[in-house]
Amino acid sequence: MERYEDSKLYRIRHSLAHVMAEAMLERFPDAKIAIGPPIEDGFYYDFDFPQPPTEEDIKWVEKRMKKILSGNHDFVVREVTPEEARQIFADQPYKLELIDDLVNGRVDENGQQIAQPAEKITIYTQNKFTDLCRGPHVANTKEIDPKAFSITFKPVAGAYWRGDEKNKQLTRVYGTAWESEADLKDYLHRLEEARRRDHRNVGEKLGLFVISPLVGKGLPLWLPKGAILRDTLERWLRDVQIENGYSPVVTPHIGNLNLYRTSGHYPYYKDSQYSPIQVDDEEFLLKPMNCPHHCMIYKSAMRSYRDLPVRLAEFGTVYRYEQSGELHGLTRVRGFTVDDAHLYVTPEQLLDEFINVVKLIQYVFNSLSLTDFRARVGIRDPQSDKYVGSDTLWEQATQAILQACDQLGMSYTVEEGEAAFYGPKLDFIFRDVLKREWQLGTVQVDYNLPERFDLEYIGEDNQRHRPVMIHRAPFGSLERFVGILIEHFGGEFPMWLSPVQAVLIPVSDNHLDYARQVATQLKQAGMRVEVDDSKGRMTKKIRQHRELHTPHMLIVGDRDMENNTVSLRLRSDEDLGAMPIDEYIRLAKHIIETKSLALQ
Ligand SMILES: [Zn+2]
Ligand SMILES: [Zn+2]
Repeated sequence: MERYEDSKLYRIRHSLAHVMAEAMLERFPDAKIAIGPPIEDGFYYDFDFPQPPTEEDIKWVEKRMKKILSGNHDFVVREVTPEEARQIFADQPYKLELIDDLVNGRVDENGQQIAQPAEKITIYTQNKFTDLCRGPHVANTKEIDPKAFSITFKPVAGAYWRGDEKNKQLTRVYGTAWESEADLKDYLHRLEEARRRDHRNVGEKLGLFVISPLVGKGLPLWLPKGAILRDTLERWLRDVQIENGYSPVVTPHIGNLNLYRTSGHYPYYKDSQYSPIQVDDEEFLLKPMNCPHHCMIYKSAMRSYRDLPVRLAEFGTVYRYEQSGELHGLTRVRGFTVDDAHLYVTPEQLLDEFINVVKLIQYVFNSLSLTDFRARVGIRDPQSDKYVGSDTLWEQATQAILQACDQLGMSYTVEEGEAAFYGPKLDFIFRDVLKREWQLGTVQVDYNLPERFDLEYIGEDNQRHRPVMIHRAPFGSLERFVGILIEHFGGEFPMWLSPVQAVLIPVSDNHLDYARQVATQLKQAGMRVEVDDSKGRMTKKIRQHRELHTPHMLIVGDRDMENNTVSLRLRSDEDLGAMPIDEYIRLAKHIIETKSLALQ
C-alpha cells in the first residue's frame, strides 16, 4: 500500500497549506506564520495574528485561495544558504527559529539531540508567496480542484508554538482537502454522520450513561438502560466462555504494591497508574491490570499437566491514568471493566489454545454483526529496550501467533513496536459503518509473567515445568466497546441488545388496560417492554419511539382488543399490521434468540 506521505492527496494538502498562508498574509499583512503540515483528512497552518480572524476573514481567504489556484502557478523549489534564508524570512520570527534548527539541529530541554542539522535548506514559491519547506508539493496549482477543499477556524486549545505550553499560543486554521468535489462531499457527509452517531449524544438521548463532575472525570455512570445493554453483553459472553471451558473468578480492586513489583507493572506502567495508597504499613495500588491477581489464583493450588489448560475469566474493573484532555465519553475513561481472561497452558497446548481463543473472538464479533475487521500481529520494535524476557521466548511466542493465524487462514499484517512489553500480541481492528478503525479484542502470548511469578505444573515426566500464559479480551473494555457499538449502530441496537425491545402504544386511553395486559404477557415471555401511557397523540408517540430507536412499536386499538392482536410497526417505519399476541411473541423471541438484525 502506498504510504500517505507519498500520495497525491498528501501533496495536494501540503500545497494548500502554502496557498492558505499566502491568502492569509494578504488579509493580515502583519500576521506571523509558524508551520503548516498536511494531516489526516486535510492540513492546517498555525498563525500568530494581530487580532483573531472572523468568520468573514475565513470566507475571504477561502475565496482568495480558489483564485490563486486558478492562476496555474508552479511550485518552484530552490536551495538557499542559511544567510539567504534569514534574509527572505527577516520579518518572520518563527521561520528564523526554524532556520536556526535546520542549521544547528535541535536539542530538547534535557540536552538530547532530537534533530540533526539539515543537509540543505529549501524554499518553495508559488505565485507571490515563499515558504521554508522540504516539500513535496504538486507541480502546479492547477492540479488542485478549487471545489474540493474548505477551510474552517475553530479556536482550539493547545496550538502552542512547538506544542509547548510555555510558548505563545497560536491560532490554528484547518482545511480539509480532497482530489474531487465528490470526495469532499462524501467526507463532509461522513463527518456529519459521525456527529449524529457520537456516542456521547446518543448516550444522553437514549439515557444510557452520564458523567458527573462530582463523581469524577472519566468515570462514567451507567443509567438503568445503559446497564441493561452492558449486562446483556456481559451475561452473554460469560455464558459463551463457560461453554468454552473458562472458569469465572473474582478479584479485588486493589493489590499490594509488591504484587505489581513482581509482575513488573510497577514501575513499568507507572505513568498510567495512580499513586500507591498507604494502608497501615503496606502500600496498595488501584488495580491497573487483572493478570497478577489471576497468576496468584493459578498459584494457589498445585497444578499437574492434567489440570491444564486453566482458563480464568473475570469482568475485572481496572483504573488507569489518562490525561484529562484525552478523556472522551465511554471510549477514553479512567476506570473500566475488561472482559479479561488468562489461560495457563503447556507449551504443547499453546497453538491449539491460541486458535480456540481467536475462534471465540471471531464468534463473538460475528454474533454482533461486526464483520469488517482485520488482524494485526504486534511484534517488538527491534530498536527499543523496553521489553522484558529473552529473545528465544519472544521468537517462540511470535512464531506461535503467526502459525495460528496461518492455520486459521486469517489475513493479517505484522507491525513492529505494537507488542506488549511482556510479549507479542494479536489485535483485531474493526471498521465501523463510517469506515473508521477501532482496536477491539486482543490476544497476547506471555512467557514472562509465569517466570516472574514462578508458576509451575508437574508434567507427565513428574518434573516441574513452566506454563505459558495467554491474555485475551474480545471486547477490550465494556465501556469502550459499548461506546463503539453505539456509534456503529447509531443507537439502533439489534433487538437482543436493545434496552427496550418493544413499546405498547394505545390508540386512546380506552386501550390502556389492554396495553398493560399485553405488556405483562410479553414480560412473562422474557421481553423488555414498556407501555407509553403518556398524554399525546399516537402519531407523535410513534415518532418519539422511532427517534429512540425502539425496535418494535405495538399499536393497540379497538380491533386489537376484540381479536386479541397487536399491530406491529417497525422502527424502520414498516407496518406489518395486526397479528395474534402469541404469534407476535414467537416472532419477537425468534429475532432475539437468533440475534437477528431483520424485522426491526
Ligand atoms: Zn510545504
Ligand atoms: Zn492480562
